[in-house]
Amino acid sequence: MFELDKFVSKSSKAGVLYPCNHFALGWKTPGLHRMMGNEMTVSPSPKVVEAVKAIADKLNWYPEDILTDDNLREHLADYVGLPGKANYITCGNGSMEIIDMLYESFINEGDEIIVSTPDYTLYTNRAKLYGAEVKGVYPKDQNFTYEPEDFTSLVGPKTKMILVSRPNNPDGHFVSRDLIKALLDTEVLVCIDEAYYEFGEDPIDAMIEEYPNLIISHTFSKAMGLAGIRLGWIVARPELIDAVNKVRQSCNVNLVAHTAAIAAIDDREYIKANVARIIADRQLFFDAMAAIPGLRPIPSASNFVMVDTLESGIKASDIQKHLLENGYLVRNWIDSRGLPGDRFFRVTIGTHEETVAVIELIQAFCQK
Ligand code: PMP
Repeated sequence: MFELDKFVSKSSKAGVLYPCNHFALGWKTPGLHRMMGNEMTVSPSPKVVEAVKAIADKLNWYPEDILTDDNLREHLADYVGLPGKANYITCGNGSMEIIDMLYESFINEGDEIIVSTPDYTLYTNRAKLYGAEVKGVYPKDQNFTYEPEDFTSLVGPKTKMILVSRPNNPDGHFVSRDLIKALLDTEVLVCIDEAYYEFGEDPIDAMIEEYPNLIISHTFSKAMGLAGIRLGWIVARPELIDAVNKVRQSCNVNLVAHTAAIAAIDDREYIKANVARIIADRQLFFDAMAAIPGLRPIPSASNFVMVDTLESGIKASDIQKHLLENGYLVRNWIDSRGLPGDRFFRVTIGTHEETVAVIELIQAFCQK
């Protein structure tokens, strides 16, 4: 009798599926407003679309590997304010893959990884594959802020990495530069996931020169409006990049992603205009939520706002359901991801019209 169990690896047994039902619902429901995954809800720049069409008849060829793809790496280095530093960059198939690449490069069984709680689910889920223990740090207050000691007090001999998103997903807060410096001074690897950094302030990429233990992760999925191409990249000192490249699969950046990425960076005005509009609508949404009795929006430096419904006595899942019934998909959590109860929902800021529609639906629901 074939005994599958004997063949399945430790990693596979430890693995947990990450359900992507919200993506599926978006694709399978024409007309649904997808305000759940923090994607851009408008199409990419027409210049990106043109460039992708123009490459279509070359898709028979393998792409260049990122190691020799100076054009893409130089574009990326330039984008984060490190012109000419192509050797400070490597790429992944989305920053989801970057998480695996970092763990595979630096984590051995029994190592510890410190993360803030809540934070991006995959930091914890993927750590299981590498036999690492994850230690969660809980926020100090209702606005999800942290003190450096909350993290540094947990650093011990087994700690390999501190991993924090900045701005944070899902609550939108933004850890300070001083907090990051305190983390770096512990001399463990510090990975700052700046998936949403265009919507915040004070980028820290230049700190790479000063700190050999700093890694910064970026993505095309948010402000760049290109979640579909699956391209993420990290910035770090070349010694760290070399270590990551040794575990990276060859040619992991496909030709469409390469082409779209270069065209997107060449049309930065398009990105800037979208970001400026989303920041204005984020404020509109925040103010509207704050004006509804019992709702408490959390200040956000990102392209989404999380709202706490506790004081209103309304279940976050009821608001989520009401929005879905009206064609707007947003996110809520029930006792998960370090968020207690059924009181938190999160709305990705979409177009102005989508944002206004969601505000009006929530206002009407809460008045009932
Ligand atoms: N990091 C954070 C903080 C995120 O919120 C997300 C996506 N929601 C990712 C990484 C993954 O992004 P990507 O599309 O680049 O894989």
